Amino acid sequence: MGRAREGVIISFSSPSPQSPPIKGAGRIMLNFSFFFCHKTGMLPLKRIQNRVRHVVCYNSFAMDIKKFIRPNICSLSAYEAKEIPCKVKLDANESPYGFKKVLKTLKTIETNRYPDPEAKALKKLISRYFGVKPENILQGNGSDELIYYLITTFGGPVLYPTPTFSMYGIIAQAIGEKRIEIPLDEEFDLDLQKILTAIKKQMPKLIFLSSPNNPTGNCFSSERILKIIDSALSFSMIVVDEAYQPFSSKMGFLPLLKDCKNLVIMRTLSKIGLAGLRVGFIIADKEIIKEVNKVRLPFNLNSLSQAIAIEVLKDRKTMQSQIKSIVSERENLFNKLSKINGIGPYPSEANFILFKIKDPDRICKGLLKKGVLVRNMKGAVDGCLRVTIGTPEENRIFLKALKKVSSKI
Ligand code: PMP
Repeated sequence: MGRAREGVIISFSSPSPQSPPIKGAGRIMLNFSFFFCHKTGMLPLKRIQNRVRHVVCYNSFAMDIKKFIRPNICSLSAYEAKEIPCKVKLDANESPYGFKKVLKTLKTIETNRYPDPEAKALKKLISRYFGVKPENILQGNGSDELIYYLITTFGGPVLYPTPTFSMYGIIAQAIGEKRIEIPLDEEFDLDLQKILTAIKKQMPKLIFLSSPNNPTGNCFSSERILKIIDSALSFSMIVVDEAYQPFSSKMGFLPLLKDCKNLVIMRTLSKIGLAGLRVGFIIADKEIIKEVNKVRLPFNLNSLSQAIAIEVLKDRKTMQSQIKSIVSERENLFNKLSKINGIGPYPSEANFILFKIKDPDRICKGLLKKGVLVRNMKGAVDGCLRVTIGTPEENRIFLKALKKVSSKI
């Protein structure tokens, strides 16, 4: 490690031909420490590279990195969220509407200070929104992070129906917990008998139910969810993931929290215009929140996200009107899709529609050629594509392109 004249101290170890081979060491050691002089600020990368003084390397670079990785990670596939250039983006269940005016809030943020680790102001607002106490809420960097925390806290086996949101399985596998996957029935509803049997035999610690479900779009029968909550009372936590609840005509499970101590409700702001901020939260009994909070990283919700989310949540009217417009566009799009020959849309309670179509691979590529990006559900629901509800104009472009591309079959 050494000090460069302008205050940059860098220690960097990486493979190099000069250094002696270390027996049995295929390990790459990387150790960076950057200290930036308060006078000069951050140096451009090129200049930092010029000032690297100390480089220690190992030349046994030809190695099998896999043998250092835990087997459950080796066999894991990463969540696919490709950035595909397009004109009309309808593949990720985001809202087509943002909240431009919140940019004013940015001026109030002290970037030199850590964020509020408890996100107190945001939790207070959420608590008023949902009629619960702040002690019943835990904030996450998106609900993805909360899935991680829940599995870390409660462990496995982790049970979930399929097809559903892929992160339940990915995170369970990453943490090394057993997964129990129970296929949905023909109506995309929960297979109650199979789930109850699995609960009895395998005693899952956690059960994830996304309702409305991604990617099928339907809500599961409340009666079946209640039976699951009831039968698992003494050994499983039931997480009802209500990411798409704002678009649903059905009642959510929040009112049941008082009576069901093993129930956790998960929500996100990602689907209602704030996907870029990464704000999710769980609502549950305070004892559950207390335990999950132990595994939360201290500053998991950054200052910008906290401040903007507060600003947006205060403006309920705008948010409600955006949701209303998405729901009405969903119905409109559903009716129009139903009228196209060879296309079978499934009814949706979410901000997307799953639809059956002949030759989905070709249709998906054809749409992209016309600038429209939708999600190919190959592997999850074969023979189907999933389209997110966009603005009226985006939906019009999508429909026009779909009619053109599908007429060529
Ligand atoms: N739950 C479901 C059912 C989802 O579909 C998604 C995102 N696609 C999430 C959770 C994750 O949301 P977030 O952006 O809050 O991590």
